[in-house]
Amino acid sequence: MSTIHLQNLVKKFGDFTALQTMDLAIADGEFMALLGPSGCGKSTTMNMIAGMEEPTSGKILFGERDMAGVPMGRRGVGFVFQNYAIFTHMSVRQNLAYGPKMRGAPKAEIDRRVGAIAEMLQLTPLLDRKADRLSVNILQRVAIGRSAIMEPAIFLLDEPLSNVDAAFRAVMRTELKQLQRQFRQTMVYVTHDQLEAMTMADRIAVMDHGVLQQVGTPLEVYNNPANVFVARFIGAPGMNLLKGWLAESDRGLVVDLGPLGATPPLPVEIADAASRMRGEVFYGFRPEQVTLAESGRGLCMPVSFVERIGARTIIHLGDGETAVKAVFDNDVGLAIGQTAVVAPAAEAVRVFDAATGLALRAG
Ligand code: ATP
Repeated sequence: MSTIHLQNLVKKFGDFTALQTMDLAIADGEFMALLGPSGCGKSTTMNMIAGMEEPTSGKILFGERDMAGVPMGRRGVGFVFQNYAIFTHMSVRQNLAYGPKMRGAPKAEIDRRVGAIAEMLQLTPLLDRKADRLSVNILQRVAIGRSAIMEPAIFLLDEPLSNVDAAFRAVMRTELKQLQRQFRQTMVYVTHDQLEAMTMADRIAVMDHGVLQQVGTPLEVYNNPANVFVARFIGAPGMNLLKGWLAESDRGLVVDLGPLGATPPLPVEIADAASRMRGEVFYGFRPEQVTLAESGRGLCMPVSFVERIGARTIIHLGDGETAVKAVFDNDVGLAIGQTAVVAPAAEAVRVFDAATGLALRAG
């Protein structure tokens, strides 16, 4: 079984806690992304799974087996780093064949596996090229192939695409996902790029400052962020969060947004959760989940900037604490200085306790 269990995992460097009590269960054959900003503890977690760092406390189990004291070479993991690690004096074929050869695989078997992996990673025409003549993009593809050919039950990738260019990164995202589907490995993928995590992972573990913030499918973390950090970090742009106060109105519980007025009544399940608290909240909604409305039917705000990305338009409204972004799939004909009324879709509204940062949820 290639399940991975992190139990109460802690890593300290002297007085500094790089990882605080992490609990995470990764299923057999699952693609788990560890996602978070620089310094949040992703690589530290990965290095402990790989066996390159010893935990300060807590356990790592592969299946039922405790990995304490098991060296990297005996863990049965494949590891690909940000910087490709390949032999530049060898050809692509020799690089790919290296691992199986060291293990004493028969030549016919090596040829078959090299052929298959090269085909999958589009390296077939380059098999006899010397590695020192290849671009960084291709070298990283070879490095991934060199690890994948060993068919490790657990495949660990730490920011493998951060040094390749944008167009190539998009291609590699698809290839890596296909690779994992084919070999059915348990894959742990470290990235600070939410797009990579959202497009490839079965589930995402979102981290910040050494603390696991939320674990969920890409849609779960997008639709129901556990807290304001996840709400802002997931999505491009992230969730709009406007500070306000819960207030009773004759239509039900609303959020008083100060100069922006009161929101429409909150959905019942949020109002139920909010009834247990009073005070400051963040009124949240995704930039993609708004429509332009008539006056009096949404947030009335001045347009401060218009960003066009192909057919997509990002309208920036207001500024400072009341800044909001709205994303449309077409040109909505708004220009800087005009006033727009944006209405968040009722089902897309999320409310967070401003004191704790936690989402208000039913139950
Ligand atoms: P990045 O993508 O920038 O590497 P990360 O999320 O992977 O970010 P880590 O590399 O895990 O973060 O580092 C987490 C924290 O632990 C950082 O503040 C880092 O400076 C610190 N850290 C990591 N390794 C060591 C070490 N060997 N000694 C002291 N501090 C360390």
